Amino acid sequence: MNDEFDWEGGGLADWQGQTTASEFTFQKHEPEYVIQINGNDSKFMVGIKYDGTLVYGENYNPDEAAKIFWKALVHHMPGVEQAITKPNTTPWAVICREHGKQYLTSEQYDAQMMKPDSYWLCPICGGHSSWDDDNYDNYYNEEK
Ligand SMILES: [Zn+2]
Repeated sequence: MNDEFDWEGGGLADWQGQTTASEFTFQKHEPEYVIQINGNDSKFMVGIKYDGTLVYGENYNPDEAAKIFWKALVHHMPGVEQAITKPNTTPWAVICREHGKQYLTSEQYDAQMMKPDSYWLCPICGGHSSWDDDNYDNYYNEEK
């Protein structure tokens, strides 16, 4: 393994002095992957290569890997949590006979509230829809 590197070279000799054997393994391993997930025991679990293929470590556990991945994503991209937990949802939704459940933006909701005598309308086709009361309740119950 070590014959891939010139340990006698000046620059590398300094670098070698600053690292441990386990860090060396990591440094050499890591650039193969766009994303590398290590388990809570720090052992390699799964990596995504630049061609999109996956490489699994001995301790691969899909649920644990997913949790670590999402936790890291939220840590490195503040604000992404809202998007991944409630994609495009709002408290306001109507159920269209043709398009099913459709969320309303706050603007769409306000506009419809300004016309109290009108039916709820589907934001896609404008057809008569019914108010999704369960969505409203669930949205605010999940917040707590
Ligand atoms: Zn519709």
